Amino acid sequence: MNRFIPTTALAAAALLGASLAAGDAAAQERKFISIGTGGPTGVYFVVGNSVCRMVHKEAAEGRKKGRKHGIRCAAPSTGGSTYNIGQICAGELEFGVAQSDWQFHAVNGSSEKVTNCPGLRAVFSVHPEPFHLIAADGSGIGSFTDAKGKRMNIGNPGSGQRGTTEVLMEGHGMSADDLAVATELTSSEQSQALCDGKIDAYGYTVGVPNAGVAVATDGCGAYIVNLNSDVEKKLVAENPYYAFATIPAGTYKTTAEDVTTFGVMATFVTHENVPEQVVYEVTRAVMENLDDFRSLHPAFANLDPANMTMDGLSAPLHPGAEKYYKEKGLK
Ligand code: GLU
Repeated sequence: MNRFIPTTALAAAALLGASLAAGDAAAQERKFISIGTGGPTGVYFVVGNSVCRMVHKEAAEGRKKGRKHGIRCAAPSTGGSTYNIGQICAGELEFGVAQSDWQFHAVNGSSEKVTNCPGLRAVFSVHPEPFHLIAADGSGIGSFTDAKGKRMNIGNPGSGQRGTTEVLMEGHGMSADDLAVATELTSSEQSQALCDGKIDAYGYTVGVPNAGVAVATDGCGAYIVNLNSDVEKKLVAENPYYAFATIPAGTYKTTAEDVTTFGVMATFVTHENVPEQVVYEVTRAVMENLDDFRSLHPAFANLDPANMTMDGLSAPLHPGAEKYYKEKGLK
């Protein structure tokens, strides 16, 4: 009996050593990534958190199958597209959601409204984001230029909606000076402000449907204005990152007919300095679980890998994403 004691002790010591080593390895493998989103009532917030959910799902299922990636993910609420790009470029965020227009300008250095970021890399595109001009019931606003002399929310600095609203104002020969008041409310504040009578209109680039928009349309009779004048036609004709979009009749209580407007794509971006393996695993987690992903928000219902790997992507694909798409014959 005695002779087994040292052996058992040795085995225990060996086991302890092995588990310590495994713990060290796991600690080394563990990587934390942050995804920049938008306001808490927007669709970007759902995109970021859905990506994290798929990453964690793959981590758990991968562990069962002996295939582990050790990535832990968080997707906090942020100011929106241009904030996310700036933070990705500064190395403060690994990923973010950003409008296709601001992705284009960041990588090409073609607008002072967003950080010039040649290292920005595309991963995939997500849902279309029509530009919404939302007008208060009784405001009399029937076109973009009707906002002149009214109180309009142009969006918080850092949001994509702010930049796109400014581009549209410039296109219509307007500036914030033409408005009675230009507020800088966040996307989560603007609908309530409109229903409270504090503003007459707001401009918002967002996926359809959106709970935040519904607060204004279904909550206090606000309506979405058609934006298909020569100005929007010119913007779409001259810029690859814009396209016409329809907000279908019946989407909200006040959408009795289809609304035609122009819009962008929501895109998922990263930086060339983010390791290939990390981007590969995040891309893989989303694409391998696309059915689950689609079920997490109605704006994701039509996501299709062929479009996701192409539409609205003007930055070069990150090599980690490209590796996965090549394996799957998508590129
Ligand atoms: N497109 C908006 C922006 O960049 C965000 C929309 C959302 O949060 O879903 O500011």
